[in-house]
Amino acid sequence: ASWPESDGLDYTELKKILQETPDPEKAREWSKYYTAGPHLCGKNLSQAEWTRDKWAEFGIPHTEIVSYDMHLNYPVDHRLALLENDEVIYEATLEEDVIPEDPTTGLSDRVPTFHGYSASGNVTASYAFCNYGTFYDFEDLRDAGVELEGKIALVKYGHVFRGLKVKRASELGMVGVIMYSDPGDDGQMTEQNGYKPYPDGPARNPSSVQRGSVQYLSVAPGDPTTIGYPSKPGAPRESTEGIIPDIPSLPISYAEALPLLKALNGHGPNVSSFSKYWHTGGLGYKGVEYNIGPTPKSLTINLMNEQDYVITPAWNAIGIINGSISDEVVVLGNHRDAWIAGGAGDPNSGSAALNEVIRAFGVALSKGWKPLRTIVFASWDGEEYGLLGSTEWVEEYIPWLSESTVAYINVDVGARGSNFQASAAPLLNKALLEVTAEVQSPNQTVKGQSVRDTWDGYISTMGSGSDFTAFQDFAGIPSIDVGFGGGPEDPVYHYHSNYDSFWWMDNFGDPGFEHHIAIAKILALLTAKLAEEPVVQFNATDYAFGLQKYLQDAKDEAAGFGIGMLSDSTFEPLHKAIEAFQRASATFDDEASRLSQQALSSPSTTMTTELYQSVRTINTKYKLLERQFLYAAGLDGRSWFKHVIFAPGLWTGYAGKTYPGLVEAIDERNQSAVDRWVDIIEGTINRATDLLIPE
Ligand code: GLU
Ligand code: CA
Ligand code: ZN
Ligand code: ZN
Repeated sequence: ASWPESDGLDYTELKKILQETPDPEKAREWSKYYTAGPHLCGKNLSQAEWTRDKWAEFGIPHTEIVSYDMHLNYPVDHRLALLENDEVIYEATLEEDVIPEDPTTGLSDRVPTFHGYSASGNVTASYAFCNYGTFYDFEDLRDAGVELEGKIALVKYGHVFRGLKVKRASELGMVGVIMYSDPGDDGQMTEQNGYKPYPDGPARNPSSVQRGSVQYLSVAPGDPTTIGYPSKPGAPRESTEGIIPDIPSLPISYAEALPLLKALNGHGPNVSSFSKYWHTGGLGYKGVEYNIGPTPKSLTINLMNEQDYVITPAWNAIGIINGSISDEVVVLGNHRDAWIAGGAGDPNSGSAALNEVIRAFGVALSKGWKPLRTIVFASWDGEEYGLLGSTEWVEEYIPWLSESTVAYINVDVGARGSNFQASAAPLLNKALLEVTAEVQSPNQTVKGQSVRDTWDGYISTMGSGSDFTAFQDFAGIPSIDVGFGGGPEDPVYHYHSNYDSFWWMDNFGDPGFEHHIAIAKILALLTAKLAEEPVVQFNATDYAFGLQKYLQDAKDEAAGFGIGMLSDSTFEPLHKAIEAFQRASATFDDEASRLSQQALSSPSTTMTTELYQSVRTINTKYKLLERQFLYAAGLDGRSWFKHVIFAPGLWTGYAGKTYPGLVEAIDERNQSAVDRWVDIIEGTINRATDLLIPE
């Protein structure tokens, strides 16, 4: 019998079903369905409905489609040509090669290569190689006096979110950006090292192009015309200035970058002697010397990008299993939209796994199980453009979510290699470590090894780049993101390219679909742990240790800058607040685990009202703990981001920053902002401490 009342299945029986139901053949079937044709945001209604209907068929009692009207772009036309004295010397196809074995690469309605939220424009200018186009790369170029204004930036993909490359280029007066995937960033599995390119081997296909959004992710995600409120029909819309680019950009392949890179040979400084942070890429063997340029006036690029901006409906599929306790909710989500017809890795390895999770919960329901807490499943639309579906949904339901949500679990790319990866709010670390120890690893070197055994246990802090962002940073809901990423022995992943296809997945990425199943089991067990155990399985002490460590990181950063203003006394209030929080957490976690033991060993018949009430009190506090770290006015210059402990880095986007407000103030050497942020953060930590201390 499950707690607090007698239901058809107990927790052990439930876990057995969740472990035994997910089936690689089924995951393969779902993967094949989702990856059979284009499913861009706003163009996947049939898949949203199919998903909803499948979940209903699996036995989920309540299913629905929730739609929003999104402002976004579809590609119309593009051109990229290299000109010498106004003569075209090279014209790019801007197409990925059709591969006969891989059917979705040759669909007549395949999606062109383009950037989500890029600006239309037609520019002809000389160009410069700007490394990865990070903030620091551009600073190096400015320090060296390389002229950037009026030029086009040719940059490598990697290191930071692509939109932030365009943001900085635009701020520096550049007129366009071209991004390519340099094989020097592909690890060992390269053509240069003797590996054959896809489809004949694991190396990158030279014609592969990474599409992707260039919105300014670290400023605000979601529909860029409705920051902070839902894009329901008729909603007022605001200017997109400062949120999406005002200069055109195009993504290209390394095959098509070659002529542009080679034309730079002999122009301007060479990267090898330029800065210790700059290195030559992986195309030296093809004759690229990696000179920075800029090119002379006689050598220019014509970049033409035409985008059609529309307001289009987009569809989240939602499934709900109501629990016995209605104001405690666990949400599990994955996006469904992809840049390309395929998307077998991104996102549909997650979608296939999610369907297996839901099918398994359906089996449990059919045997009479009823969850303790409410479970919500979500298939988001529009993640690729800027986390649209999840952000609008959180913005719409924020009052209910704030009051009731215990945790959000995200899976984006569930499987594309053998390397388990996780980022999480520290409250969830312990649950993740426990759950991964219960799932068999698909990469055993010793029989019986769990995912935990074959993983180093490293959990990164929450940044952005997937649908957990609105939950964690806007709503203050502890979130987690898991998936199997690539390791050094894994085939190169063709991220956002036509080659992230079913055929690639079936032959290279996860033949046998065992990683799909392992991630499904992790998601299912994590959901069950959070929804089903009498005491919410959080650990506040891990949060306290995190706060201490992040503070040390901030101080180290300040020391690295040699900033005198940041004396130890600057940080003293934070040290004190963290210490108090640490003590309160330790006591609270102890009490929680004592109650947990007691509740688990009390059959429902002997459950006292007193024990039930104590558990409820503990759970409410755990549920509201993360919320204490929200600051209503938000971060400086990006007020949508409300969390004072975690945010995407201003100039990284994907990678998280801890104490973002404070660290940005330090970066700006702004003493009064530092003092203000110390105050704000101290206030939130004290609030968290007060919440945990018994009345
Ligand atoms: N996963 C998407 C990407 O990295 C997210 C896009 C966004 O957050 O804007 O391209
Ligand atoms: Ca919005
Ligand atoms: Zn994705
Ligand atoms: Zn993606």
